[in-house]
Amino acid sequence: MITGTILIRGGTVLDETGERRSDVLIKDGAIAEVSEGIGVQAGTQVLDAEGCIVSPGLVDIQVHFREPGREESETIETGARAAALGGNTAVVAMPNTQPPLDDAKVVSSVLEQGRRAACLVTVAGCITKGRAGIELAPMGELHDLGVRIFTDDGDCVADANVMRRAFEYALALPGAVISQHAEDPALVAGGHMHEGAWSARLGIPGRPGEAESTIVARDIALARLTGGRYHVLHMSTGAATQLVRAAKAEGLRVTAEASPQHFTLTDEKCSGFDPVFKMNPPLRPESDVAAIVAGLADGTIDAIATDHAPHSPETKELPFEEAPPGMLGVETALAVAITRLVETGIMSLADVLAAMSWRPARIAGLDAHGHGMPVVAGNPANLCVIDPFETWVVDQQRLSSKSFNTPWEGWKLTGKARHTILRGEAVVAYGEATR
Ligand SMILES: [Zn+2]
Repeated sequence: MITGTILIRGGTVLDETGERRSDVLIKDGAIAEVSEGIGVQAGTQVLDAEGCIVSPGLVDIQVHFREPGREESETIETGARAAALGGNTAVVAMPNTQPPLDDAKVVSSVLEQGRRAACLVTVAGCITKGRAGIELAPMGELHDLGVRIFTDDGDCVADANVMRRAFEYALALPGAVISQHAEDPALVAGGHMHEGAWSARLGIPGRPGEAESTIVARDIALARLTGGRYHVLHMSTGAATQLVRAAKAEGLRVTAEASPQHFTLTDEKCSGFDPVFKMNPPLRPESDVAAIVAGLADGTIDAIATDHAPHSPETKELPFEEAPPGMLGVETALAVAITRLVETGIMSLADVLAAMSWRPARIAGLDAHGHGMPVVAGNPANLCVIDPFETWVVDQQRLSSKSFNTPWEGWKLTGKARHTILRGEAVVAYGEATR
């Protein structure tokens, strides 16, 4: 465990206020000094940041850590360690656990474990009891425990009137946001990949992009009707991106996130029937991928979130149509984003960090917990030190997650978290977890 006084030396600080060469001194869990050439006192541990970016810690607002209920695939402890290795200091775990996070007792126990983990694990609460889409969950009680994101993720809230009442109820809960897994269940029923040329050729039943855009259109109309706050989880189509762009131009309180797989991989990946490429919403054709990239580049899409969805080999390695959807993400997201968006000149590193740290922190209310905050004296020391030029090859055996279902196996990526600092403790130092 590396705690006490830590000096991050020789890096370039990059946060929402800009970029400057600076050392960062950390004492008692907080940033004590940010300036060039800070001297080393006795007892100070030095973390080298030469050639690195010192950023507010990354914040992933869409992960599945499988606890309670599916601990053979991931736990809060293992998921948080993997997330910390990916540069995250805070994550939001989705509520489709067993039992689901629709009740104050379950939520309290997960939050308590999440406070002790290698990154702060907070949770999204269910919109409806049992994620059944019928009766609202006790959102007020969950909000009292600190829950800010509400979603039935894994499933879409299909009933428009239930969704309307959720928006109205959330108006009384400061900072609350109604989030949606936007896929109309009737339109995607029985589908296993994007409905298009590849699904037709492979003979696999499809999930049309319209299942996403129709729900996003409806939910934006409900946000307009109620004045509520709406967030689109893992947005994957150009049509939905255009709807969000228009909603923002209109001044509605609408935000969206995209996952690395949806701005990088296409549905052609399913042509080998490898279940590692199966997910919901599914991988889309090139036109959608290009639209998601454009949405990230122009800020229509606020955040990059992984939808980290571990599945043990026993449950995932099945015929394509029987395998569960989802892929790993927390340890590779930063590198995929740098490789796909920064190295190609599409986005600056500052814009990628905005989408991976301070903007998602704000959407989830995690700025109030000291995440995504500017690197200045007095702020809590939740930081990550990134080598933006380090290249590495993804090896599923060397990832820290309990599961192995990465779609990036064998990819050569650029960019890696070297150190991750959580509340003043180096939970990752030189690329290794310290606990
Ligand atoms: Zn989802």
